[in-house]
Amino acid sequence: MLRRTKIVATLGPSSTSPEVLERMILAGMDMARLNFSHGTEDDHRSRVETIRTLAKKLGRTVGILGDLQGPKIRVGKFQEGKILLKAGDTFILDAQCPLGNQDRVGLDYKELPHDVQSGDALLLDDGKIELEVLKVFGNEVHTRVIQGGILSNNKGINRRGGGLTAPALTDKDREDIILAAKLKVDYLAVSFPRSGADMNQARALLVAAGGTAQLQAKIERAEAIDALEDIIAASDSIMVARGDLAVEVGDAAVPALQKRMIRLARQMNKTVITATQMMESMISSPVPTRAEVSDVANAVLDGTDAVMLSAESAAGQFPVESIAAMARICAEAEKQESQPIVERQTRMPVDRIETAVARAVIHTSHHLPVKAVAALTQSGTTALLISRADTHVPIYAMTPTPETQQRVTLYRGVYPVAFHHTHLEPEAVIIEAEALLLKQGAVKPGDLMLLTMGEPIGKAGGTNTLKILRVGEHSA
Ligand code: PGA
Ligand code: MN
Repeated sequence: MLRRTKIVATLGPSSTSPEVLERMILAGMDMARLNFSHGTEDDHRSRVETIRTLAKKLGRTVGILGDLQGPKIRVGKFQEGKILLKAGDTFILDAQCPLGNQDRVGLDYKELPHDVQSGDALLLDDGKIELEVLKVFGNEVHTRVIQGGILSNNKGINRRGGGLTAPALTDKDREDIILAAKLKVDYLAVSFPRSGADMNQARALLVAAGGTAQLQAKIERAEAIDALEDIIAASDSIMVARGDLAVEVGDAAVPALQKRMIRLARQMNKTVITATQMMESMISSPVPTRAEVSDVANAVLDGTDAVMLSAESAAGQFPVESIAAMARICAEAEKQESQPIVERQTRMPVDRIETAVARAVIHTSHHLPVKAVAALTQSGTTALLISRADTHVPIYAMTPTPETQQRVTLYRGVYPVAFHHTHLEPEAVIIEAEALLLKQGAVKPGDLMLLTMGEPIGKAGGTNTLKILRVGEHSA
């Protein structure tokens, strides 16, 4: 049985050498994430080159996701690198402070004093430290420590309930969008979008830079929850970015939001990654906790396209083991999967010919013992539409285009196949596609398989044909 849920692994110091990256690919990494919050342009370029070279060598397809830093609001640096805050202390966030001490620290986002008022709760370092705003005094935010802890250089700040006005794209993000286009990443993630308009702006910049990446919205602000449909409509994909989201909406609200986001993304024919702390203990342990196993399995049961590793693969001691653990948990959870995902998805309206063909595939595969779906596709759209219903039948996205092969690495239940047909007559192309799947072991003689294509072949246009065929009867 093929694993349907995909694995995204963030690259970092623990996953830079070609030897480790090769083992990560072999362990099941479907997509590598470049975190533009860390590393130089050269770091990212050499990672992309290494991944592309290894994928070719291993005969695997690996997608690449570039993740913009976004307007993460951070404290500045400290004289001593860090301080210890104790409950009851007073502490000042001072937009003008060049180097912090026990009294105060600087801010990279100079507007913060205009965005907050007395009574606000500010959460630092992913909520480990909580400050209550007492008063705002010019450039200074005076606070009292509610929950203390060690505060070190450049830790993030969130306000409970959201509402900080920093625009979604910083100057650095604009440069990184150009870099992402140059590196030809397959997905570009936008951090902290507040609305569909933020995504449209990112897309315009990406297109202007010549990028063809799929655009992903990281849902990690309280406002993004209110604007969820608007943001999803403007995106190709979303990330359930639980790290920042939990700080803004409260950690206990996140599991239900995760389910809602996954359901909505799929209903709107978009893809979704579930991210952050999935295998957190594996940063320093070779095995996951029971809770982590359940978290990954539950994301699979929720219907996510992919599960993601952050620090586990970027900076942890066990990047390969983390991927292997995820792979085995996903595969097992998929066996237990319940029917409702299928039923829910197939209630979507049929508004296009392509959607009607996809629906016919889903319907047929529920009633006949179909072993494979071959979607002959340019953009991967038909494969996406079929996979939104989670048919349990492997969907092979057969395409000559490397960009499409890399794009579908994120789609649940979809597997890329490099397919260069030599004929133009539909009948001959079908025989070629069938022969390739036979050769790859995806089907065997006598199997029932479905094939979708756009006719006439060679003319640009959508999928309009579904064939139901018995393997071997054509080519015999
Ligand atoms: P990050 O995004 O890792 O870039 O912060 C994911 C999250 O916030 O969960
Ligand atoms: Mn985040």
